[in-house]
Amino acid sequence: MATERTLSIIKPDATARNLTGKIIAYFEQQNLRVIAQKRLQLSRRQAREFYIVHKARPFYDELVEYMVSGPVSVQVLEGENAVLRNREIMGATDPAKATPGTIRKDFGESIERNSAHGSDSLENAKNEIRFFFSDMEIVG
Ligand code: ADP
Ligand code: MG
Repeated sequence: MATERTLSIIKPDATARNLTGKIIAYFEQQNLRVIAQKRLQLSRRQAREFYIVHKARPFYDELVEYMVSGPVSVQVLEGENAVLRNREIMGATDPAKATPGTIRKDFGESIERNSAHGSDSLENAKNEIRFFFSDMEIVG
């Protein structure tokens, strides 16, 4: 097992419902540490760039509008197998299909408004962390 870092975003549907602390508790209770964190309002340009891999998908424009609809809270999480662990703690993309006890099952409103983002590979985690944080903002 390896200690990894991954990028997490608490999405606008969750910040709107004041769920930031509750969602962070899921990570901390399952041995992921918050080693960097900030709240910010994404610009459309940032949201489009962050989700550029989905630009050909029919939901891309709607996803971008949703991601700029309110503040997000962005974290770097660190722990054993953090990339996969975070994906397990979040649950399936569609809250209706997610396992009980996961963030998306417990808080997600729809396949789009699913409360949390997590990097899907170690390589993407490195790029996504760099997208949001400078080295001096990350304190492990
Ligand atoms: P994940 O976030 O689980 O890695 P994807 O990378 O496939 O999922 O999709 C990125 C985000 O786009 C999802 O978290 C969700 O907010 C949104 N999304 C995915 N699929 C759909 C869909 N069919 N309709 C609307 N929004 C979607
Ligand atoms: Mg994804």
